[in-house]
Amino acid sequence: MPLEANRVYNFNPGPGTMPLPVLKEVQAEMLNFHGSGESIVEISHRAPQYAEVHAQAKADIKELMGLGDDYEVLFMTGGASTQFALLPLNFATKEHPGSYVLSGSFAEKCYKEGANLGVAEIAASSKEGGYKHVPTQDELKINSEAAYLHLCYNNTIYGTEYHYIPETNGVPLFADMSSDMLSRPLDFKRFDLIYAGVQKNLGPAGVTLVIAKRDLLAKSPEKLPTMFKYSTFLNKDSLFNTPPAFCIYFVGKVAAWIKAQGGLTVMAERNKKKADLLYAAIDNSDGFYRGHADKDSRSFMNVTFRLPSEELEKQFVAEAAEQALCGVKGHRSVGGMRASIYNAMPYEGVERLADFMEKFRKAHA
Ligand SMILES: *Cc1c(COP(=O)(O)O)cnc(C)c1O
Repeated sequence: MPLEANRVYNFNPGPGTMPLPVLKEVQAEMLNFHGSGESIVEISHRAPQYAEVHAQAKADIKELMGLGDDYEVLFMTGGASTQFALLPLNFATKEHPGSYVLSGSFAEKCYKEGANLGVAEIAASSKEGGYKHVPTQDELKINSEAAYLHLCYNNTIYGTEYHYIPETNGVPLFADMSSDMLSRPLDFKRFDLIYAGVQKNLGPAGVTLVIAKRDLLAKSPEKLPTMFKYSTFLNKDSLFNTPPAFCIYFVGKVAAWIKAQGGLTVMAERNKKKADLLYAAIDNSDGFYRGHADKDSRSFMNVTFRLPSEELEKQFVAEAAEQALCGVKGHRSVGGMRASIYNAMPYEGVERLADFMEKFRKAHA
C-alpha cells in the first residue's frame, strides 16, 4: 500500500511521528485560524481564540489522565533537560535531597543536575550490565527525608520501561515521561509531579508539560528567578510571558485525537499489539536479533535490538530506508537498532518492519 503524500514510516525516537489527521487539520487551519483572519502563530496569546486553545489542551490532558482540580498542567519551555535543573532548584535541599533512580542516560543526566547543586542522592541504579532493566521495588533504597524520588519512566535510549509504580511511603514521586506520556493508562494520582518534553509522542519540540499537585507547585523558593519558579507558571496559568502557542495548540489537537480514538486504554492496546509484534520478531529469530532490554522491563515505545555484526546493522538501516522504514538506527551509546513506535505509528508500519526483519534474517542468517 503506497503511503499518503509520499510520507515514510518514521521510527525516529524524537522528534517522533505525529498523527496524520492532526497534521492535516493544522495545515487546513494555518492561514485563517477559526475565522480570525490570522494564523495561530500570529494571533495574540491574550486573544479569546487562543485562551480557548490553552484551556482546552489543559482540560483534555487532565481528563485523559483522570486527574482532578488538585493537579495543574503547566506549559513550560527548555525541554525535559531544563526540568532536570528546575526540580532540585525548586524542591531539594541538603537536608531533604532529591533521590534518583538511575535507569538510563536521561535519568543519569537528571541526577547530575541535582548532584551539581549538592542536593542529590542515588536510590538505585541498573547501570551495571548496561541498563537492561529498570530497578525493582526491592532494589530501591528510599530515604524517608528525601524531597522526592525521581524516576525516568521510559528509557528512550535503552528501550526499557517501568511496569509498576514504586511505593515510596510518603516521599513525593516525580517522573520524566517524555517518551511514554499519554501512551497508556496509569494511576497518575500516585505521582506528585510528571513532566515530558512533548516532541516524542505529543507534538513539536518547544513545550514541556508539567503536571503536578498544585500545593507542591506553590512551594518554589522566593529567591529563584521568576522564570525558574513553578509557582510563577501556576499563579499565571503559564501566561506570565509569551507561551509557545503553536506547540500548545498542536499538543491540544493530539490530545483531542487520543480522546477521539478512545483514550489511553485504546492507545495502550494498540501500543502493546505493535510492541508484541516486534518483540516476537526478535524472540523467534533463533538469536539473529538480540533484544537489549530484559523481558520484564521491555518498553512499549522504543524497541532496541542488535544484529550479529555492525556490518549487518549498517545494511539493515540502509535497506529498511529503501522500504520507507526510516529512523531505525539505535543510539550510539547502545548501538544496533531502535524502533520507536509511539502512539501515532500505525500498526501497518510495524507490520512492514516485522516483515522486513524476517526477510532480512532469512537473507543473512
Ligand atoms: C528526549 C528525552 C529527554 C530530553 O528531552 P529534551 O526535551 O530534548 O530536553 C529527557 N528524558 C527523556 C526520557 C527523553 O526521552
